[in-house]
Order: sequence, then C-alpha cells, then structure tokens
Amino acid sequence: MADESAAKGPLPVVDWLKLPEGGEPYLEAHKCQACGAFYLGERSNCSKCFARGRMKPVRLANRGTLYAYSIVHRSFPGIETPYVSAIVDLEGGGTVKGNLIGIDPDPEKIRMGMPVEVVYKDALGRKDREGHSYISYFFQPRAH
Ligand SMILES: [Zn+2]
Repeated sequence: MADESAAKGPLPVVDWLKLPEGGEPYLEAHKCQACGAFYLGERSNCSKCFARGRMKPVRLANRGTLYAYSIVHRSFPGIETPYVSAIVDLEGGGTVKGNLIGIDPDPEKIRMGMPVEVVYKDALGRKDREGHSYISYFFQPRAH
C-alpha cells in the first residue's frame, strides 16, 4: 500500500496553495460575495461584514506590489538568515505574506510598491516521512 505511487508529488506548504494536476500552481482565497473581503484558507462566515455562507473560492493573481517588508536576521535553527519577509497586495485583490527572494536583503534595494510576481519553488529541500517534497510560494521582483 505504501509504495503505491513511485512518483511522489510535492505537497503544498499551506492548504490555500493549489497544485492542479498538469496545471500551474496558484494561490486561492475565499472572497466574501457581500463585501468583497478576501480570506486565505476556507471559512464560511465573513468576519468583516458578518455575512454567512457568502464565501466563494477565487484564484489569486500571480502579480502584485510590495506593501510592506522586514528583513529577518534571526529565525529558527536551520533557516538561513537574513531573508526578507514581505506583505504583497495582489492584483485584483488579496494580501499575502511570504518571503521575497531574488533581491539582496538590503533596505537600499527594496522599494515599497515595487512590482513583484509570485513564484512556486521547492521549500528548503525538506521531505516528509513518505518522501514527498514541499512546494511553497515566494515573491520575486519583476520588471513591470
Ligand atoms: Zn463580507
């Protein structure tokens, strides 16, 4: 039973990162149909306008702009520092926190509002007990 599938597909690090078979990964939010608020992860009631049962899953854009960031110098053992922890406003709605890569962790180089894209990569080369690797999302600067 355990060795049913020889090819172990990667697993998403969060349940709102979707890996459609044969398709491109994407982030999914739940959008309140009453007030337009976005939430990551499943929920049935809106904590902004208190509407019930008005949530609809939406695919988030892979482009956005940097809203805020901080350079992290200390983290858990095994996590390489420094790195840039960022908050990004995605085009069309949705605000997501993640790591900004492809840029020096240097405040001189990072601009608020800079255009970024969402990229999907293996997360830290870790595997679970069954040999699945993990896939995570990152932000990286884009030209425009
Ligand atoms: Zn709402």
